Amino acid sequence: MCIFACYLFDMIDMQNGLPERCDFSAEDREFMQMAIDLSVENIDSGGGPFGTVIVRDGKLIAKGANRVVPNNDPTAHAEVVAIRNACRELQTFDLSGCTV
Ligand SMILES: [Zn+2]
Repeated sequence: MCIFACYLFDMIDMQNGLPERCDFSAEDREFMQMAIDLSVENIDSGGGPFGTVIVRDGKLIAKGANRVVPNNDPTAHAEVVAIRNACRELQTFDLSGCTV
């Protein structure tokens, strides 16, 4: 959550990559960049510019991209898609220990 908040706070710097003034770890930066890339790529397939990755113990668990318009599904926000994918991947509804 902290990463997301910092990211939103510095969104204006998006063209220059991740903001420098937040204390991201190298791993945070890698996964945050993955979410940014996902959001950019998603535009080409008709989705909104939103991407989410879910990580646990330094390992990518699932990805999700916004599919609201192409799927006519108002619940298909990137984070919801990623949560659904993570639960399917882990075979549980409990995502304790995961970071979005
Ligand atoms: Zn959302």
